[in-house]
Amino acid sequence: MSFDRSMARCSFCGRYSSDVRRMIAGPGAAYICDECLQLCNDILHDPAPFSPQALELASRPPVVVAAPQPLTPQERSAHTGAQSPVRTITIELEQKQQGMTLILHQLQYYQEFFELQYLWIRPPFNAGFAFVPRIIFFVKDNTGVQWTGDRGGMILARPDLASGPNNAVYQGTARFRPLPSPETRTLTIRAADPLGQFETPPSQPWQFEITL
Ligand SMILES: [Zn+2]
Repeated sequence: MSFDRSMARCSFCGRYSSDVRRMIAGPGAAYICDECLQLCNDILHDPAPFSPQALELASRPPVVVAAPQPLTPQERSAHTGAQSPVRTITIELEQKQQGMTLILHQLQYYQEFFELQYLWIRPPFNAGFAFVPRIIFFVKDNTGVQWTGDRGGMILARPDLASGPNNAVYQGTARFRPLPSPETRTLTIRAADPLGQFETPPSQPWQFEITL
């Protein structure tokens, strides 16, 4: 199969050859640009088990060579934190389950989506943990609308918040779109640790009720 190399996109950030200084070709249509290579090098030299950089990289949407979908300017600015929320709703609800605590901190509304910010207190992950840990969410409002949220939410280790060596605090953000309608009065938020599915018995999801 032939491949037009002028259309090469970095498999890590999606940019085209014309947008980067150097592009290194891998097998097939795999490429990596100089900036992503530098980022990987920084991650290699960071002793943290999963640094903000590593998690940001792992949480990027996959680059689809055949159907490029570059981020919209709004998404890009939200990704870099440049956009500020149009509304913030403080929640501060906390639930314990199976030795872990989930704290829903706040909801932030942006122009086209909303984000749930949470803290996850649990036994620490080991260094070198092989995949990105996260909590998956299922949200439903009083009118029956449902949101499953993104699967690429970011989670950051917050050792500054931990009370001792046996617990670790992870700060996460889950994004949902579209925004709730004006008829939305309450949100039911169910949250699950995907790894809990491998426990015996499987862990039950957390469930929160929020009145807006
Ligand atoms: Zn790149």
